[in-house]
Amino acid sequence: LDTFNAVVLGAGGVGKSALTVRWGRNEFLEQYNPTIEEEYRCTADIDGERCILNILDTPGAEQFTGLTEGHIKFGQGFILVFSLIDERSLKELDLIRHQIYQTKGMDVPIVVVGTKMDLAHEREVSRGTVQDLALRWGHSVYETSAKRNWHVSDPFEDLVRQMRKR
Ligand code: GDP
Ligand code: MG
Repeated sequence: LDTFNAVVLGAGGVGKSALTVRWGRNEFLEQYNPTIEEEYRCTADIDGERCILNILDTPGAEQFTGLTEGHIKFGQGFILVFSLIDERSLKELDLIRHQIYQTKGMDVPIVVVGTKMDLAHEREVSRGTVQDLALRWGHSVYETSAKRNWHVSDPFEDLVRQMRKR
């Protein structure tokens, strides 16, 4: 089986673990546990082909995005996560993005995920901003809710397709 390593990065509390656990185990993490770094090994059928996806869920924290040199080396693909209800968490992806490009080159597999789409009334990042971002950065950007299980598979499947092409 093809095996791919993906790394989930982004500011603390944006919903990286909730997204990963929703996809891997189809459960919603209600609790926020900021200290955990965990690797998940998942089997997935994508476009009729089975593969193994090792997903490294990084901690992140206030003022710390969780990115280390080791994470970049481990990753063949990256899931950059921000919260749709926290504009600052989107800005924090800039630094991460550029660190990844520096090490892996510009055509590295990346998807961007905006989380907490269910909290529509608290939203700080508009749909227009998200669409604009996808054009400017040249990556797919997905709006998701781990709580409601909205569009959670899309970014993982997209990333696997990108990694298969490499
Ligand atoms: P991380 O630090 O990026 O891993 O953030 P977590 O995954 O631990 O999530 C932080 C908090 O946000 C937790 O209390 C989650 O339950 C909550 N959360 C995560 N995703 C969603 C979502 O899609 N909708 C809502 N309403 N809450 C979410
Ligand atoms: Mg976490």
